Amino acid sequence: MEETSCILLQACKEGRKALLETEANAVCREYGIPITRFELSKNENESVKYAEKIGYPVVLKIVSPDIIHKSDVGGVIVDLRNADEVKAAHKRIIENVRKHKHAARIVGILVQEMAPPSTEIIIGSTKDPQFGPAIMFGLGGVFVEIMKDVAFRIAPITEEEASEMITEVRAYPLLTGYRNSPPADIAAIIKILLNVSKLVTENQEIKELDLNPVMIYPKGAKTVDARIILE
Ligand code: ADP
Ligand code: MG
Repeated sequence: MEETSCILLQACKEGRKALLETEANAVCREYGIPITRFELSKNENESVKYAEKIGYPVVLKIVSPDIIHKSDVGGVIVDLRNADEVKAAHKRIIENVRKHKHAARIVGILVQEMAPPSTEIIIGSTKDPQFGPAIMFGLGGVFVEIMKDVAFRIAPITEEEASEMITEVRAYPLLTGYRNSPPADIAAIIKILLNVSKLVTENQEIKELDLNPVMIYPKGAKTVDARIILE
């Protein structure tokens, strides 16, 4: 994991408390966690160039070491379908960020593949001072935020533990197929849980990790937001 340790080492050396989303994406991808395609753009024309390379529709997001919750500052615009929409969104994100958080340093704009809407799950890791990293699983939105419907296990986790984490949340039936929606790819979720476990076990300088959300499909999954906080 040459590159992963490089990114983490560099960030630690610079005394940074968090990785940029582009860096977190790269680290996750190296551990086999499915990340949507992305590029880091420096201006409107570059954003269009990357959107065309990735393919429409795309999502644009602010990349700043001073902004952790991007939507709170108008830093995420989804479902952009052509060059004009991309240019306008690029401009608007910069304006929004300037308005909400004037002094924020802007590294660039993330141009990202738009993952088709689906059931959203959250996978995370936090460090317990006594037991080390623990892995968290839950379904997106109200299930985690309001109902606190989550499962935890101390890392490293086994395949069996990963499977238990999924079935023990109360919202589990939403993953097995209901009404007209097909069952979600449980094997893909297990694989992400195991890879996250490996990532945080092998890199103890990670204090918190958040994949929020991961879109889960009948076949496969796509992480659209990865956040890594350092010790
Ligand atoms: P935040 O920093 O606010 O958590 P996110 O990157 O999670 O920002 O984006 C906010 C929301 O926008 C996500 O919860 C998701 O619903 C949607 N979203 C973000 N990126 C994508 C994407 N690439 N494809 C589809 N939906 C996305
Ligand atoms: Mg998010």
